[in-house]
Amino acid sequence: MAPKQPTLDQLQNSQMYEERLRFEVKKDGESLAIEKNDDVFVVHKRTPRGKVENGDGHWKATVDKIYIKRGSAQKKKTTWVLVHWYYGRQDIAELQLPRRDREDFPRCLGATELVKSDHLSIISINAIDDHLEVHQFDDADSSGDLIECRAWYMRYTIHIDPDNTKRGHITSTVNKCRCGVPYQPNTRQRYCANCTRWFHEHCTKRFTPTALASSSTLPAPSSPAPSTLTPSTPAPPSPTLPSLAPSPLLQHILAIPTAHGFIAAWARHWETVGTGKPLEEFHDWRSKHLHASHNEIQAQLKEIDEEFFKGALEHEWEAFVCEECGSKI
Ligand SMILES: [Zn+2]
Ligand SMILES: [Zn+2]
Repeated sequence: MAPKQPTLDQLQNSQMYEERLRFEVKKDGESLAIEKNDDVFVVHKRTPRGKVENGDGHWKATVDKIYIKRGSAQKKKTTWVLVHWYYGRQDIAELQLPRRDREDFPRCLGATELVKSDHLSIISINAIDDHLEVHQFDDADSSGDLIECRAWYMRYTIHIDPDNTKRGHITSTVNKCRCGVPYQPNTRQRYCANCTRWFHEHCTKRFTPTALASSSTLPAPSSPAPSTLTPSTPAPPSPTLPSLAPSPLLQHILAIPTAHGFIAAWARHWETVGTGKPLEEFHDWRSKHLHASHNEIQAQLKEIDEEFFKGALEHEWEAFVCEECGSKI
């Protein structure tokens, strides 16, 4: 018979339980160490049996405290874990939220986005299936670390009403574009380094070169290249160019914008955080190697992220104009 689940008061205030920072369980013959502050996958009635794959069928939580029943030889079945739940996109959609959160917030969440809540529960340590990695995502950052497109990440926190767990409100800062809508990783945004803000592409104007020269001499804005294009090596610099002019390769790299959101199939890896990180790394390197040759630049692109630069240099990036400051973005 399964032991009766204790109340939080019993765990915290009775002499029957003691708190532990770490507990080891056997899972499918392997040892799984659970520690305070670990993020974990939790099984529930509808969780598919077997190994945790992506974790779609699991609940997700953070371990807050571990309690062991005194004198029980520290068995799994008498070990309890106090957890904070993560809420997924679907959980958030089912909540009663205040008007300011309800309008745009639920639909701006990504498919693998988790919202950290203060909703506490006591679960059996048996319900923990595996460790979960949750990446911190700051959607205002222009050069955040890569988050793979199927990885779990979080950027928001939510307070859940302890008396009614169907009600809550967002407790973290929600960064918004000038249109008032937060970033949703399926939509594209451009970063304006001058305003240090992100804007939806559909909230900015396309850059047209009319202000710089007669439009007849310059190509019209191009549409994004199909993702099926065969990758090709960028053209080597023309030997007739004056030595001080940036090489075509360099010009091409400098034209890659800081963008995030769904760009193309090749860019799935950078979808959530965007192109900022590899570009920043390149610009840092270049500031120290202003006279680098074409081959040195190519070697550096390989060093930073070969796959990224291959895709980004193939892609025909449209330029936009920041509605706030007029910069080309
Ligand atoms: Zn917008
Ligand atoms: Zn701007």
